[in-house]
Amino acid sequence: MSDIFQKYCHGATSAAILGEIICEKLKEPIEQSVYKNTARDLTDEIRSNCESLNGSRSNLEQHILKTLAEEEDFDKYMDYIETPRDHFKSFIRDEVSHYITDQFSVSVLPKMEENIKLLQQKIMKAAHESTERVQVKRGDAGLWLKSFTQQLSDELIFSEKDLSGVKHDDVDDVNLLEDVIRKELPVIMSDIRSRFNTETFPVKLDFKFRPDELLIDHLCQCCWVQCPFCKAICTNTIKNHDGDHSVAIHRNIGLNGWFYRKTTNLSINICTSSVASDGNFYPSHSDDKVPWREYRRAGGVYADWSITPDLSELPYWKWFVCRFQKDLEEYYKKTFDGHGKIPDNWRTYSKHEAVETLEKYI
Ligand SMILES: [Zn+2]
Ligand SMILES: [Zn+2]
Repeated sequence: MSDIFQKYCHGATSAAILGEIICEKLKEPIEQSVYKNTARDLTDEIRSNCESLNGSRSNLEQHILKTLAEEEDFDKYMDYIETPRDHFKSFIRDEVSHYITDQFSVSVLPKMEENIKLLQQKIMKAAHESTERVQVKRGDAGLWLKSFTQQLSDELIFSEKDLSGVKHDDVDDVNLLEDVIRKELPVIMSDIRSRFNTETFPVKLDFKFRPDELLIDHLCQCCWVQCPFCKAICTNTIKNHDGDHSVAIHRNIGLNGWFYRKTTNLSINICTSSVASDGNFYPSHSDDKVPWREYRRAGGVYADWSITPDLSELPYWKWFVCRFQKDLEEYYKKTFDGHGKIPDNWRTYSKHEAVETLEKYI
């Protein structure tokens, strides 16, 4: 760069030097455009190929629950239960990062090559048409630059402004610009190619174009309100939707710290069966008991939920409570005793059964 400017500052504004300056200025916008287009193509591919990310958020949640069961990591479970949105986001980031690492040479690199080729063709076409325009209009280098930058403005973040300060009044042979660019462009492209790897790709890419961010946008723009009893996430696909929140699978409310009044016994109740019972509960914000059947009377967060009575088996969360009983007891400083004693038949579910039964709810 400094060499070019030295030649340039010493007065000899040849087409060769102007061409080199143009190429130098194009480097960064070309790289950004190649990364951006590759990321876009890759996002489309991940959206159709990656099992956890190719459907709705409910499909994604099923994969998250499967992964949590495979890993059997209590802290990760609590992260999912307490801050589901962040957990979903980091799950998506991990999936995308694995995909990029696994598929780098077979899928990401070829996409980048293709985008480089296309961009090179577009730039040469713009250069060629600018030369023709100058010839027809008997224009000068100023007209050439204007035409060139205008044609590329859709492809690159590059405008005449980027060339302001570049002297071009006395360029000897405008026709040569196209040749100089044809010669210099492959050098820039191979430079970009050589810097492209699994580490630089996500880092050099503008945040908003990153495949994980695009997928987070796509999959996480929905309702995240959690059941006030069991923390299950509303499955409505619209953020700030009208009507009640709802979800197909509720959980044992003890895993959210609910316990039997005046005891230190964590509750084994499941919201869907409780709302069919004759019992009462005490909302977290008051000392007035509310009949389960009329849980909405508790107002606030309770009023906005539609919890339908359902006595069907929910092996996944029963398995979870059995598997992590000690961890939950420690976490909430309470125990599954007394009314909260875990029924023996809960212990009969295998992890495999627990995970399998998730599928029928999606
Ligand atoms: Zn619930
Ligand atoms: Zn909702």
